[in-house]
Amino acid sequence: MCYVLCALLSCKKIVYYVYCILLLNLILSLMKLTCPECKNDVSLAAYPDLKQEDIVECGTCGITLMITNMTGEELQAEIADEGK
Ligand SMILES: [Zn+2]
Repeated sequence: MCYVLCALLSCKKIVYYVYCILLLNLILSLMKLTCPECKNDVSLAAYPDLKQEDIVECGTCGITLMITNMTGEELQAEIADEGK
């Protein structure tokens, strides 16, 4: 673990890259969305630039959801299945 850390610190470009990934993961882990259909957590890892009225898909039941509210850490979405 220490060796890996030293190797990373020796290259600032990689450090910056890792920092960005960690920051992104932090933001994503703060945002939570519960599927209104199956009540499972929807994985937002595939949507790094998520904003209001974006379409996401529930990985559990596969339903299409539209983000309706992004205030706070808890996202809200409504079912937006338009029969694609
Ligand atoms: Zn679902």
